[in-house]
Amino acid sequence: MKKQSRYTIFTAIALLTALSGCFGSKTAQSSVDMGLLQGKANIMPVAVIGSGPAGLMAAVYGARGGKDTYVLEGNKPGGLLMDTTEVANWPGEIMITGPKIIEKMRNQALHQGVNFVEDAVERIDTSSWPYAIHTENGDILHAMSIIIATGAAPKRLNIPGEDEYWGAGVTACAVCDAPFYKGLEVVVIGGGDSAVEEAIQLSSYASKITILVRKDRMRAAESMQERLKGYPSISIKYNVEPRKIVGDGTEVTGIELFNVQTHQHETFPTSGVFLAIGHNPNTSFLKGSIPLTEGGNVIVKGRTQETLIHGIFSAGDVEDHRYRQAGTSAGYGIAAGLDAVRFLDDNGYNPAIAAQIKPQLFGKSVDGAQELDISQGAIELESLDELDQLLAKHEVVIADFWTKTCPSCKVMLPHFRSIAQEMSGQVAFVTIDAEEASDISEKYFVNRVPLMLVFKDGQIVSRHSGPLSKKELSSFVEQFASN
Ligand code: NDP
Repeated sequence: MKKQSRYTIFTAIALLTALSGCFGSKTAQSSVDMGLLQGKANIMPVAVIGSGPAGLMAAVYGARGGKDTYVLEGNKPGGLLMDTTEVANWPGEIMITGPKIIEKMRNQALHQGVNFVEDAVERIDTSSWPYAIHTENGDILHAMSIIIATGAAPKRLNIPGEDEYWGAGVTACAVCDAPFYKGLEVVVIGGGDSAVEEAIQLSSYASKITILVRKDRMRAAESMQERLKGYPSISIKYNVEPRKIVGDGTEVTGIELFNVQTHQHETFPTSGVFLAIGHNPNTSFLKGSIPLTEGGNVIVKGRTQETLIHGIFSAGDVEDHRYRQAGTSAGYGIAAGLDAVRFLDDNGYNPAIAAQIKPQLFGKSVDGAQELDISQGAIELESLDELDQLLAKHEVVIADFWTKTCPSCKVMLPHFRSIAQEMSGQVAFVTIDAEEASDISEKYFVNRVPLMLVFKDGQIVSRHSGPLSKKELSSFVEQFASN
């Protein structure tokens, strides 16, 4: 449609809005002025921030409600479920892995027409509507409604040595780091379900795992504690508080404990300290734009998922500090999706407006071939032509093949991108959706993802199939980037 007719419609909307006071809404307080969309680019009717169970279900309901829905996936697509092994309390499943739940939910969302944006949100501006979302990639997107579903992040102990050895023996992610502790003795701190999960994940690698619990009992569900009995390498030490993490300057060698019953101190030898002591809501990017509780959770109103800002909703661990289950997060996500759809309908969103903003949607306005500039980090390739261009221009090209339905690919992609950012300019880093760029996949026999291909002088010199941790990815890339 021509620009002029689009503006005519927006002007008409603005006029109508001005005349009627509000656009089909029930109260003046709940109205927004659709005329304010005029002249704005990158407009998303429903923007979901976060891609765990809450975000994905919110997106499914946004799309099913007939609204163009975008999920900003964040730096850890899929959220905490991606670090979970067996889940026995997901509706309808006797036993399922966390990544499998996310894979199924993501497929369902894609099937419903949800769009996924590989970017994380830096801040949102709620001072005027449509709300502005500033992303880490430097885009400014406009949202008619927002659903915040950014989950929560692992808590830290805040004891001496924790920062010094973070990433060098202290970690909060067994699923990411367990392989580095093969044959070593490690401790897990915490007495909840996460501690049990982490210990079980570690049992495939570490020779001995001690769970350190500060009380005389664990908080984990009986069924979870029962699972531990099948793992002879796991033991539990009660009544101990961690006081200091000690090491030799490069790596962890032990942890100082205080026994709350005997009041004795001891240094417990260990090569790794795995934290499983709960989570903090991921809301630092919201400070000053959305009212939060003292604990940092997003505040929602009564029996709705609406925040104290009109048209902004929230769901999952980021707002719920009480239940914190994948199942309840998904349920709250459904409620938030329904609330957002209703908000748009109540405020006059209709097929005419949807059609008018569609040409301005995020990512849809880019015309022509993308400029293949490798100086800013990894670039996403869409065709064999683009790859050929790069191979002709650069001595070394490192490609990370992924697909939308591959959870481990989504874990690797942000790592690959940050490595590419650090080493930008040295070699060409590219990411390739193996399903979308089928001409590339066919030519280079890509039938499994994640897959890393390294080209030197136009020829494949290395091929690695399967997931890589951030450390492994770094050392894989370094051998080619430094040549
Ligand atoms: P929880 O809050 O349930 O447990 C945290 C544990 O860490 C508690 O035992 C707590 O001790 C301990 N702790 C907290 N701070 C310290 C500290 N400074 N020093 C030592 N210990 C400390 O968190 P989880 O992450 O385990 O679980 C969160 C939610 O996720 C729960 O609802 C859980 O059911 C769910 N979940 C479910 C899973 C599944 O079903 N597969 C897997 C993982 C989590 P204290 O008890 O003394 O307060």
